[in-house]
Amino acid sequence: MKIETIAIHAGHSVDETSGAVNTPIHLSTTFLRHPDGNYTNGNVYTRQSNPNRTQLETCLAALEGAEVAAAFSSGQSAGLAVFQSLSPGDHVIAPVDMYHGMRNLLNQIMVEWKLEVNYCEANDIEVNIKPNTKLIWVETPSNPLLKITDLRKIVSIANKHGLITCCDSTFATPIFQRPIELGFDLVMHASTKYLNGHSDVLGGAIISKKNNAFFEKIRNFQHLGGAVPSPFDCYLLLRGLKTLPWRMQAHQQNAFKLAQFLENHPQIERVFYPGLTSHPDHELAKSQMSGFSGMISILVKGNEQNARNVANKTHLFTQATSLGGVESLIEHRASVEGDDTLTPRNLLRLSVGLENAEDLMEDLNVALS
Ligand SMILES: *Cc1c(COP(=O)(O)O)cnc(C)c1O
Repeated sequence: MKIETIAIHAGHSVDETSGAVNTPIHLSTTFLRHPDGNYTNGNVYTRQSNPNRTQLETCLAALEGAEVAAAFSSGQSAGLAVFQSLSPGDHVIAPVDMYHGMRNLLNQIMVEWKLEVNYCEANDIEVNIKPNTKLIWVETPSNPLLKITDLRKIVSIANKHGLITCCDSTFATPIFQRPIELGFDLVMHASTKYLNGHSDVLGGAIISKKNNAFFEKIRNFQHLGGAVPSPFDCYLLLRGLKTLPWRMQAHQQNAFKLAQFLENHPQIERVFYPGLTSHPDHELAKSQMSGFSGMISILVKGNEQNARNVANKTHLFTQATSLGGVESLIEHRASVEGDDTLTPRNLLRLSVGLENAEDLMEDLNVALS
């Protein structure tokens, strides 16, 4: 099956008892045990498994071309499951430009727990590998600078040193990038973003190429840690996934038009969008992605105040954090990330939604002038 078909059919079947074409939401936390000791369809208790979550996990695994997936109640709890499946004393290599929440999770929680972490640019990864290194974590395209990491190169380094690889692929989605097909072990998603697509569910997922011992640890952490999405959240996520392939095409079409417009605007110092030929990693992006998604960062000429003035003046672009919904959002990123941010003070991050591109352009044009 091709991706549009997978998004609608993977994990899905007509409900046998009611004939419902769309999957009923199974709110029950507990499931009948039969006299022989077995359970119908293997469900015992919803923290361990639930029909809606199983359907979601099946669909996510299929979208990434993977064997298995584990759904979590947020992107952060998905990342935490990977880090806590390592052992105290293990060393992790993470990117310099990393989603600030994940960096804070490493610095404020995992370092206390005695995980060692180094933040490196992609080119410096190999020299930072130590005897206790276990995992290379990458995020591409990165947040908020839209840097591209060479996934094939990371796989070859990891294979040489026997390391686990995990890619936060939230910005790209499986529509534009499939790290597992390029040799990655794990893919992480904040399904809060594009996968759900409607800014009304918090969720995360770890998708694993193999149903191997390390994934078993992640699965065990999901069961025992209990940071699982509710059946209703799973239902909404599946509903979002059905339109993911088409939404992503439209997000990228709009973003490309806006990126070109912004690049030629006199009030803009720089545009970060991997689909532009001016992006330093455009060729690399083309070699490992089939599209460039809907996220753009811009440097507004002048200082922080000039940038914030723009975000204060847009109407269609709502000033808010997060991304990947049908509505366009604009955000002054440095002030959201906190004191230790490395993000330029005049940077605005745009999540380009599914409105008409010309309306969005006009909105930005008015705000910029
Ligand atoms: C939002 C986000 C996360 C965290 O996901 P939550 O659902 O907010 O916990 C991780 N990585 C990236 C790239 C994100 O955009």
